[in-house]
Amino acid sequence: MDPFDNHSTERANLPRNMIENSMFEEEPDVVDLAKDSSAFPTFPALDPDEAVYEPRSSRLLVRGLGENDLDEDEEDCESSARLLGMSFMNRSSAHRSNSSPYTRQAPPRSCPRPSARTMVVCVLFLVIVCSMTMTGCRKPNKTSPMETIFPLSTSGELFPWVEYRLPHSISPLSYDLTLNPNLNNMTFTGRSVINMSVLHNTKRIVLHSANLNITKATFKLGDEAARDVTVLEYKPRQQIAVNFLEELKAGQYCVLTLDYSANLSHTYDGFYNSSYTDKDGKKRVLAATQFEPLYARKAFPCFDEPSFKATFLIKISRKPDYMTLSNMPKAKTTQLPNGLMEDEFERTTFNMSTYLVAFIVGDFTSISQNVSDTLVSVYSVPEKKEHTDYALDAGVKLLEFYNNFCEINYPFKKLDLVAIPDFLAGAMENWGLITFRETSLLVGKQSSPLEKQVVASVIAHELAHQWFGNLVTMRWWNDLWLNEGFATYMQYYSLQTVLPNLEIGNLFLAVRFRALDKDALNSSHAVSTEVNSPSQVEEMFDSVSYEKGASILLMLNASLPGEHQFRKGIIQYLKQFSGSNADTNDLWNSLTEVISPQHQNVSEMMRSWTSQKGFPLVTVSRQGDQVTLTQEHFLLTSDYATHTSSLWNIPVTYVNDNCSVAPECRQVFNLMTNLSLWFWVNWYICVCFYIVHYGDEGWTALGDALSENVNVLTPEDRASLIHNIFALSRLGRVSFLQVNNLLNYISNETDTSPVTEALLQLSNIYQLLCKRQEHSLVARMKNYIMHHFGSLMEKQTWGEEESVSNQELRSVLLETACHLKEGNCTQQAKALFKSYVESNGTLRIPGDLQQAVFNVAAQSNEDWETLRDLYSHVTFDAEKRKMLRGLASTQDAWRIVWILHAGLKGDVIQTQELPLVISTVCSGFTGYLFVWDFIQENWDSLIEKFPVGSFAIQSIIKSATSQFSTQAHLDQVTSFFSGLKERGSQMRSVQEALETIRLNQRWMDKNLVVLQNWL
Ligand SMILES: [Zn+2]
Repeated sequence: MDPFDNHSTERANLPRNMIENSMFEEEPDVVDLAKDSSAFPTFPALDPDEAVYEPRSSRLLVRGLGENDLDEDEEDCESSARLLGMSFMNRSSAHRSNSSPYTRQAPPRSCPRPSARTMVVCVLFLVIVCSMTMTGCRKPNKTSPMETIFPLSTSGELFPWVEYRLPHSISPLSYDLTLNPNLNNMTFTGRSVINMSVLHNTKRIVLHSANLNITKATFKLGDEAARDVTVLEYKPRQQIAVNFLEELKAGQYCVLTLDYSANLSHTYDGFYNSSYTDKDGKKRVLAATQFEPLYARKAFPCFDEPSFKATFLIKISRKPDYMTLSNMPKAKTTQLPNGLMEDEFERTTFNMSTYLVAFIVGDFTSISQNVSDTLVSVYSVPEKKEHTDYALDAGVKLLEFYNNFCEINYPFKKLDLVAIPDFLAGAMENWGLITFRETSLLVGKQSSPLEKQVVASVIAHELAHQWFGNLVTMRWWNDLWLNEGFATYMQYYSLQTVLPNLEIGNLFLAVRFRALDKDALNSSHAVSTEVNSPSQVEEMFDSVSYEKGASILLMLNASLPGEHQFRKGIIQYLKQFSGSNADTNDLWNSLTEVISPQHQNVSEMMRSWTSQKGFPLVTVSRQGDQVTLTQEHFLLTSDYATHTSSLWNIPVTYVNDNCSVAPECRQVFNLMTNLSLWFWVNWYICVCFYIVHYGDEGWTALGDALSENVNVLTPEDRASLIHNIFALSRLGRVSFLQVNNLLNYISNETDTSPVTEALLQLSNIYQLLCKRQEHSLVARMKNYIMHHFGSLMEKQTWGEEESVSNQELRSVLLETACHLKEGNCTQQAKALFKSYVESNGTLRIPGDLQQAVFNVAAQSNEDWETLRDLYSHVTFDAEKRKMLRGLASTQDAWRIVWILHAGLKGDVIQTQELPLVISTVCSGFTGYLFVWDFIQENWDSLIEKFPVGSFAIQSIIKSATSQFSTQAHLDQVTSFFSGLKERGSQMRSVQEALETIRLNQRWMDKNLVVLQNWL
């Protein structure tokens, strides 16, 4: 999935996250079996291989009993247990918080080492590989006495399962799903016929179901006649179960048929209703699905975990004037007696995970083209058909690319790409039926290359998933990066090959910088990390799984001799696990098998990057002819302390000032004989996922070298230097004066990546100063920015521009200039807006300039009203979103209040756009305090629209708090979120917000005086 609603660098800051509302809908009922077991004499025993049994040697705590005498630790432990939906806990347990005693999979942990640093000395060759690896450090399995206490199902009977994960005694083989949606009253009925095989003897079947009213259930064992059975439901874990008096035996086959009814979801997940207004002003309704990660169970009862793969045959009824789509091609249509039509789709030819099932009922039109044996179609609502050509062209090219690259053809006869008018995520890779936000798929006739870049990126990402995720699926959500890291890596890789004119490299570099920024916080997590609750599953959809996952693949590829080895390893992995599931070790083993034995052990190297959070800081120091590299965890903490002893196996490459730009410079090189005044340690084209500190002398030498000649390093390397020195300043390792020394060269800089990175970093500081009301420093910072970038800003033109990187450069420069109210910029923007309005739709503002122009327009009363009018009429979504951001950039308090409430209400402004509105409002001085009040006052409405933990909520929290830098704001934020309890206090993004405020506070304390003296 692409959970992000656009492909700006913001995405690294927009994790999908934690705790699901449904977890708290109902308090778990618990019963102490030790007391009440006589009441349930026939209750089936748990299968020995499925549950944790511990000797009954200690007192059990049952919720509601004996809570008053808990000590502090136990209270913490109990509240954690409640968060996990656990119905029991043990008072003597040493485990706390999220270490559920039900853990099935424990990923490798980082090994504490006695020394935080290690050295690699005497750099003789180009590639220096540190030899430290993280191996064999699993802690001894501590067990503590406990006893299983079964929860009560909704009917009052005991529910026969206590774990979050389903038992593995039953495996689904196929589903026959019949769905009857009613778009008039927004309900549906369904039937799920599940063929299963029994893997281990058992007396129960446990599966998932959420918000479904099961009206009838029958069970059939082998050739026996079908019989009615009772279904038990345990809502807090969204599980249902059927108990049997006789054991089902391993090797037997059985069929469970469940009839049910439900409401179409009014949020953006499950089988949900959606609507839009057509060109005649008429409201049109449709129903679509979004199942990843845990929502298939809201549409049909199923084994809703990625490793329970099965085939699916889907039938959907509809009114004659609607159409339906699903994963597979339509097999037939039947007229039903009630006047409806029923579409039946072919059975899937591959086993697939439930989260990849999809179906849509609506009114769409399409265009199509054949690629090999696959019909690729792009669907949109009828009036937007003219915007689908680009997506079809890009989709066809990319499908051909992946067919060749993977050496496995896309397995289905059709592939649909559908633009859904009301869709929260960016896109979802459902097998054969990829769903998109309209802005992620539709491109206007005159769209700029930058807009095309966004659409092509999302398509490339979702198509990559058809192999990485759909064909080979992670075994469990702890390895989500196998889906998302690969899809992200392949999205950039494929576009560089298939559509090089889109110049995607700058974007990949920028998102890696943002991933580093986030991974530097203590609230980050390992790429492959333990996941034992819905909240933890949600939490995995973040920049660590996506961008860090992609970055370490890029780093691995670059460290291997020749690109073919990496590809060979990937193909081996895909072929070996085609149609099934894999984990991180499976990937590394496949790569190790293929890569020549004389090369490093891939598993050994890569485990240090996937099993521990964060990344290393590599410090370079030199004495005479000897270079020393040391590594430590780059961890941002408000007290400057480094708390971990993590080590990484780091591939290092360097160049020197004699040869630094061409690729061959980065091959074998002898430092002893080529000692230079400065040198640069990095991966070729900055494929590193670490930060390098060159020491005072090193930074000075680099700054001097760049001042003399910008081109001694590649633009990517220069951007990395800028990113690194700002990160080191935040860490407290370099003073801001050193940052300034490096930036002295920037007036000579004209390349997109370094300029963009420098402007981003400086504008972050500008925003902090602004929000601290340091008016004098704000004015001086503006002068500083204009002094360094003014001449480059002036050189920018206002006509059409073809090159993507020039567009990127121009848009960032002009948006900054206009934001700083630079006279020429605002005049040009006003004039362009005036011509645009007067032309009545015939004149078009170049796509990359629209944002700057709309932002300027929104600052005047009259033009803001004009812009609002245009917003309500324009149909092309990319332009519409830029107008919305313009409207939200107003500094007028009443308008800010209006736009926030309009976004929440969802009529004039779609609710899916509220996170964008909030982040834009926060960038202005007037708006950001309003937003904090707005969020506190409307928290309950917000989490009704966007589930607690969703990426939308994450984005909102980040926007609202990331510019605070005072103790008063820290106290306010702490107090508000801690008061929310289960309504959001446990989210990782809350920890991230608090850490960020403390870091801002620390940076301000340290640097305000420096800035006063220096600016
Ligand atoms: Zn994805």
